[in-house]
Amino acid sequence: MYPSRFRYEAPRSLGEAIGLLHDGGDDAKVLAGGQSLVPLMKLRFASPELVVDINNLPGLDYHRRDPDGTIRVGALCRHADLEHSELLRAGQPTMAAAAPLIADPIVRNRGTLVGSLCHADPQGDWASVMLALGGSVVAQGPGGTRTIPVADFVTGPFENVLEPDEIAVEAFIPPPRGTPAGGYLKLERRVGDFATVGVAVAVDTSGDTVTRAGIALTGVGGSTIGATAAAEALVGEPLSPPKIELAAQLAAEASQPRTDHRGSAEYKRHMVRTFVVRLLSRIDGTAERAA
Ligand SMILES: Cc1cc2nc3c(=O)[nH]c(=O)nc-3n(C[C@H](O)[C@H](O)[C@H](O)COP(=O)(O)OP(=O)(O)OC[C@H]3O[C@@H](n4cnc5c(N)ncnc54)[C@H](O)[C@@H]3O)c2cc1C
Repeated sequence: MYPSRFRYEAPRSLGEAIGLLHDGGDDAKVLAGGQSLVPLMKLRFASPELVVDINNLPGLDYHRRDPDGTIRVGALCRHADLEHSELLRAGQPTMAAAAPLIADPIVRNRGTLVGSLCHADPQGDWASVMLALGGSVVAQGPGGTRTIPVADFVTGPFENVLEPDEIAVEAFIPPPRGTPAGGYLKLERRVGDFATVGVAVAVDTSGDTVTRAGIALTGVGGSTIGATAAAEALVGEPLSPPKIELAAQLAAEASQPRTDHRGSAEYKRHMVRTFVVRLLSRIDGTAERAA
């Protein structure tokens, strides 16, 4: 199907883009990678009157690490940039593990991490990763800039807290509290598919002790789920098989899967548990065991 008729603007400055969105109100949409918005427009699930293409905005295609360890990802940094990032490979294992699992190479070449967060698909992989890492989104609008924790950014399936005239210019994760470890595991029906179940684990350690932990779940609820009780159970002590079992159990309890064509609720909950054990056992160095 063809999209409904719309006006297309490709501003060259952030101020101009925000002005266009302000004038367009609820009828305007930002276009970043277009890998979610364009299909939705073609299916006429979205019919914006104005599309503001931000791809000509300068200086938003970066990802970098600040001297204090904060990792920042600009609004035009593509999934593929993160997939091939030496910076992530060397120092941010959860993001490095997730990047190659997003969709397929064509989508990864255009789609953006920030766009993925804005799209707020419960099956979006980056939201879990950024939630597990305690990340935030930086939004800019006519009134200035504000920082929104990813935990508060998504309000429901395909809904976020951005005002119609705000642009998410960056996502960032805070400096690790020790040595970062973790990963992302995704069950998909075939390569390139959305997650049937995804689990992001991010653990910082100092010596043997876990100083910070985050666990978040993809595709097993109406929105991305932060398994906070599971993560909190790990903090303050060394990782151990009983702790790992406890965290896996709590994460499975936090999931809210539904039976559908991808599998039964019971199966998906079992996979959450299994993935948490696998990811934490790799950090702990104990043999991988399926729960
Ligand atoms: C075949 C296919 C398979 C896919 N598989 C996966 C998958 O396995 N895992 C996964 O996580 N994703 C998957 N995706 C989605 C993909 O990751 C998209 O790239 C992502 O969801 C949206 O990023 P985008 O830059 O393309 O955003 P767009 O499509 O341009 O925009 C998406 C939404 O976010 C808004 N938006 C985007 N950027 C901003 C911004 N900076 N500020 C404010 N609002 C903004 C737009 O207005 C729109 O509402 C898949 C997509 C396709 C087509």
